[in-house]
Amino acid sequence: MRALTAEQREFAERAESVAAEFTDDAYTWHGDVPWENLEELAEADLYCPSISEEYGGQGLSDLTAMLLTEAVGRECPDTGWFTYMQSMVAPRAIDLFGSDSVKEEFLPAVTAGESFVSIAISEPEAGSDVGSMTTEVTEEDGRLVCNGEKTWVGGVPFGDAAVTWVRFPEGLGSVVIPYDDPGVEIQEVYTNMAGYSQTHFTIDDVVVPERRVLTRGQEAFKEQLVSLNWERLGSSILTVAWAEAALERALSYASEREQFGRTIDEFQGIEWKLAEMYRQVETAASLAYASAAGAEGHERAPPRLQTSTAKLHCSRVAEEVVSEAVQIVGARAYQQGHPLEYLYRFARSRRIAAGTDEMQLNTIARALEERGLPAVSER
Ligand SMILES: Cc1cc2nc3c(=O)[nH]c(=O)nc-3n(C[C@H](O)[C@H](O)[C@H](O)COP(=O)(O)OP(=O)(O)OC[C@H]3O[C@@H](n4cnc5c(N)ncnc54)[C@H](O)[C@@H]3O)c2cc1C
Repeated sequence: MRALTAEQREFAERAESVAAEFTDDAYTWHGDVPWENLEELAEADLYCPSISEEYGGQGLSDLTAMLLTEAVGRECPDTGWFTYMQSMVAPRAIDLFGSDSVKEEFLPAVTAGESFVSIAISEPEAGSDVGSMTTEVTEEDGRLVCNGEKTWVGGVPFGDAAVTWVRFPEGLGSVVIPYDDPGVEIQEVYTNMAGYSQTHFTIDDVVVPERRVLTRGQEAFKEQLVSLNWERLGSSILTVAWAEAALERALSYASEREQFGRTIDEFQGIEWKLAEMYRQVETAASLAYASAAGAEGHERAPPRLQTSTAKLHCSRVAEEVVSEAVQIVGARAYQQGHPLEYLYRFARSRRIAAGTDEMQLNTIARALEERGLPAVSER
């Protein structure tokens, strides 16, 4: 049992009940957007719970968005991914840092489950080394003009705009760029291991109205970096959800599959695998929620050390647990089209996306070197 308030518990139960309706179509999306699921979540007042109420969200905590992502992601991994991306990543940045007019322009369609806003940070020569990005916004004749390129961006063919990280004369910042702005051109659409598209687009003399600037100047951008701590916890709980989905399938299969005259869950070798998988899932979920719970009184931002640790741990747990589930189900799980075969490919992404394992390790190492172990009272 997690330490949830009565309101959070009620929210999680409603999310579970709506998510149960997604089970039948789960693992059929193959790179498409489960729009009907997103709209159903929106109609049930569950989608994008931490976005402000006046733009169609619920104005609830980010921990609530994690509860939603877990409940949905374990029933339908794809819908869980969209839930995480739109509740905890780019639209959240618009809600936190945008002008009223940019929020009005993009958020109501997102929170209704009818639109998608991407996050565009990576460039061909600036992956982990975000600080070396060259996409820039300059002032020309009193207008802001953006030039550059972004790559690996998810959601482009079906999305409307991207929260785009750029270099202003005074340092890094972010702006919202709609894909249909003159000067935005898609150069290449890649298909990733899970069947989703990731896109390389160029930005050529795109005029950015002041109202679409989210952050500019060191202090504002620092706040945006801090807000990514919630994104890491969103990713953490998404991967926990996928690990839970794999464990449930392995449990169910092991209780039915017979070899040597008994179901395979009667063999201690399999029982111990299942127990180990549960240990991993439970510790990963506990770490993610503990990091979030400690943060609700910290101006909506959990500490970087905890969130990097959670992101790293949960992504690895997902990969290991899904792999063990494939082992338990055997050849059937290795066939194309099997849910575990798909999850195996999908889960692998999270050790790279939203900051690689190695970047999380760098962050953890730097924090330990600079500040040592957190005190008992800070835990
Ligand atoms: C499924 C998926 C979805 C994605 N979606 C988006 C998106 O929507 N928007 C977006 O902007 N980007 C997206 N990305 C891109 C992602 O953010 C980058 O892949 C990630 O930041 C790493 O950059 P890179 O792939 O260029 O690897 P590189 O930075 O070139 O790194 C290559 C390897 O070197 C390691 N490495 C690099 N520097 C160090 C160091 N200092 N110490 C130790 N090891 C190091 C890395 O950890 C990695 O293992 C997505 C990626 C994936 C896989």
